[in-house]
Amino acid sequence: MTALILLGLILCVVTALAAFSPRGLLLWLLGLLGRESLLPPSSVKPDVEKKPSSESWPPIEPLPDFDWKTTPPIKLRPFKPIYHINMAIQSTTPSELIVLDNTYLTKVLERRSILSSHGPSVHGAIPSGSAPVHELYTYLLGTYLPTRYPRLFSVSQTEKGTLTFHNHVTGLTAPVCPSEQEMDAEAMLRILGETVEDDLFLLLQDPAEQGGQHRAVAFVCCHPAGFAPREKLGMRLGEIHGPVPGIEKISGSMERFFSRLEVGKPVKRVNWTLQTTPHLFTPRGSGVTLHLDDAVQEVEKIDPSQARMRVELQTLTRLPQSRAILFSFKSFMYPLEEIKAEGLGPALADAVEGLQKGNVPGMWIYKGAVMSENAPQAESEKDKMSALSNVVVVGGSYVGLPRFSILPSHEHKAFIPYTSTYTSSPDPSRHLILHARATALHPHTLTVDRPIFQSSTSVPFDYLILATGSKLPPPGNIPLSVTDSLNNMTHHGKNEKENAARYLRQWQSAIKQADTIVLVGGGAVGVQMACDIKEIYPHKQVTIVHSRDRLMNAFHPWLGEIVDERLRELGVRVEKGVRVVFPEGGFPDPTTTTGSNSTPKTNMTEVRLTDGRCLKADLFIPCTGPKPSTSLLTSPSSTLPAQELINPENGCIRVRPTMQLAHEKLSHLFAIGDVADTGMHKAARPGMVQAGVAARNILAMVEGREAREVVKGSPGGIHLTLGLTRSVLFRNPNITAGETEPYAEKKEDGAEDMHIAMAWARRGVKVMKVEDFHL
Ligand SMILES: Cc1cc2nc3c(=O)[nH]c(=O)nc-3n(C[C@H](O)[C@H](O)[C@H](O)COP(=O)(O)OP(=O)(O)OC[C@H]3O[C@@H](n4cnc5c(N)ncnc54)[C@H](O)[C@@H]3O)c2cc1C
Repeated sequence: MTALILLGLILCVVTALAAFSPRGLLLWLLGLLGRESLLPPSSVKPDVEKKPSSESWPPIEPLPDFDWKTTPPIKLRPFKPIYHINMAIQSTTPSELIVLDNTYLTKVLERRSILSSHGPSVHGAIPSGSAPVHELYTYLLGTYLPTRYPRLFSVSQTEKGTLTFHNHVTGLTAPVCPSEQEMDAEAMLRILGETVEDDLFLLLQDPAEQGGQHRAVAFVCCHPAGFAPREKLGMRLGEIHGPVPGIEKISGSMERFFSRLEVGKPVKRVNWTLQTTPHLFTPRGSGVTLHLDDAVQEVEKIDPSQARMRVELQTLTRLPQSRAILFSFKSFMYPLEEIKAEGLGPALADAVEGLQKGNVPGMWIYKGAVMSENAPQAESEKDKMSALSNVVVVGGSYVGLPRFSILPSHEHKAFIPYTSTYTSSPDPSRHLILHARATALHPHTLTVDRPIFQSSTSVPFDYLILATGSKLPPPGNIPLSVTDSLNNMTHHGKNEKENAARYLRQWQSAIKQADTIVLVGGGAVGVQMACDIKEIYPHKQVTIVHSRDRLMNAFHPWLGEIVDERLRELGVRVEKGVRVVFPEGGFPDPTTTTGSNSTPKTNMTEVRLTDGRCLKADLFIPCTGPKPSTSLLTSPSSTLPAQELINPENGCIRVRPTMQLAHEKLSHLFAIGDVADTGMHKAARPGMVQAGVAARNILAMVEGREAREVVKGSPGGIHLTLGLTRSVLFRNPNITAGETEPYAEKKEDGAEDMHIAMAWARRGVKVMKVEDFHL
């Protein structure tokens, strides 16, 4: 099953919550026994000001007699009467990095099975994570574990000096210093994941010019509590903690603290939640709920024997060579019955109520104060959702602005609402349209420029299609400053439409005012605009300057002849085989040189041509070729190999015939349309064919099959308007099918608004009366 995100759709399971008093619920679960004081950890601030004592791993204190079978798990009871969000950090020793007990074998075997069944969801690395993973792997297997726990782990050495790690509990053996060919970062993470019970996240600090924040570069996490670990890969610290209520209160100090953490001076902290099930692998939901206002529950539906207090013993350790930070945590589960037996039931109930009284009341829900209404249903919904694949499409539109930047009164029709995009889908509730600009792309998450869900700017995905198209100079495209201002936008983007329509009216006005107009470029946009201007304003002097010897040179010469004939008929001048020397910074946008009441005048008076002549005009309109929109890949915040992916010859994204990106590790990413390097004509129809191929290949992959369907090239074609009602339907000869002549059909059935209601209808929006165009 797939779920589609059209520049983003977000699926979330919101577990139903209780309106029941949390204290009442807990007292019911725990029973009322005597009150005892709690054992909160003391807050010892580490000494972070001193210089690092050493830049190699610190010595480890051995536990030669440690017997895991007879060691019970440590008891952590970190709840306090009032919750205040803070880092609550304590210093610890390097020797305490990994804590073992009699649950070791059960847990690591379970982790092995989670790693094998959930694969990339529970471990992974981005390229910058390889060195830290290697450093951590070699240290844990080669030094830490055999030193600290010599009865459980050892290292043997061959005559040639090759070191092998032995786990005497599970029987696992592994090379201590594998070569790159022998093991990649992911393979090392898998070994680590089934050797220690701790979940491991490695973070590296971005260079200062990129903001200097810490970014997750590798992870192995088999015990996630209410989050999808893979989504955190490539994220910065602030984004990682996106759903944690009140995290903004401490995110700044967290960054500073991370920067100053020293080698050999690790720290620890303890974190707790309540959940309705005993499972450690709880990627989403599981009683960790995030909304205060939702629903009602019946307490009887919770099985108290299954409810747990979940405590994470977290550590932060600086790796000496790569300077990465290891964030590790071991998760403990304590049955509520056990807490009750200790007499701590009322204290825990107090602590849960206290969550509402502290500096982050949202914690009350986040920590599971109100447990899921009907946990079994929530679980099955969660399972259903985790079986869904999130597919994100970035972009997706069809451009046709030139007519509306010339002819008055129709500009508002150019913006078709996205409201009905999914109405023909069998289950529209599975799809979303997210109104946002994508700013960074990582292998499994997309970052957008505004908070979309629980203050997060991250959209996780299983598959993603890049359909970011290409950019023309205005008015071929409306500048971002007009359409993309967050301040100007209402929730539904209504102001955005008004701003864009006003912008087109300003162009109409500039064109109306100009007596002499030069269109720079004789492709489809230049030709269509020249015909429209001359037909609406026959007395203006209109000139096309085109660098090639024939117009519409991407097509068979016959199309150029048809266009020449029509331009002669309309009285448009054409200068071929010569270029305009562009002014530095391009032609000024005439709309920016006018106030709201002032009259637009000119954006230039004279330009030089490459043959030495000068050309005078009131208005110059650049109609040069489109440039692929690849900033999402090239952004310094993105973590994809942009240099490998972008063809320097044309700036497009390299794709395979299946529309998958041409990179073996990015087979779940696709590019289609103008931005894709397919060699096909850049037009709507080829884009639609490519979209179909990408969609069917994603479906195949979701169903466990290979992406096999390939795009077949077809001859370039175009439906080119030659004035308000005239047009030509043209297709190059299909050489592979043996054709030698193109197909051309002249038409005279056009309309001023280009019958745009039909385009609205294709987008699912039926225009019944003219007012509907203002939607
Ligand atoms: C003026 C003009 C006239 C044309 N006339 C015709 C014609 O008559 N017939 C024809 O077949 N073709 C025509 N074309 C070509 C056709 O419009 C394109 O080939 C087609 O629109 C390409 O579709 P696309 O989905 O690849 O990209 P686009 O239609 O360009 O859509 C890309 C979308 O992605 C969005 N986007 C980009 N980056 C981001 C980001 N980071 N985050 C979020 N969103 C992003 C953009 O805002 C845009 O809405 C014309 C093009 C132009 C410019």
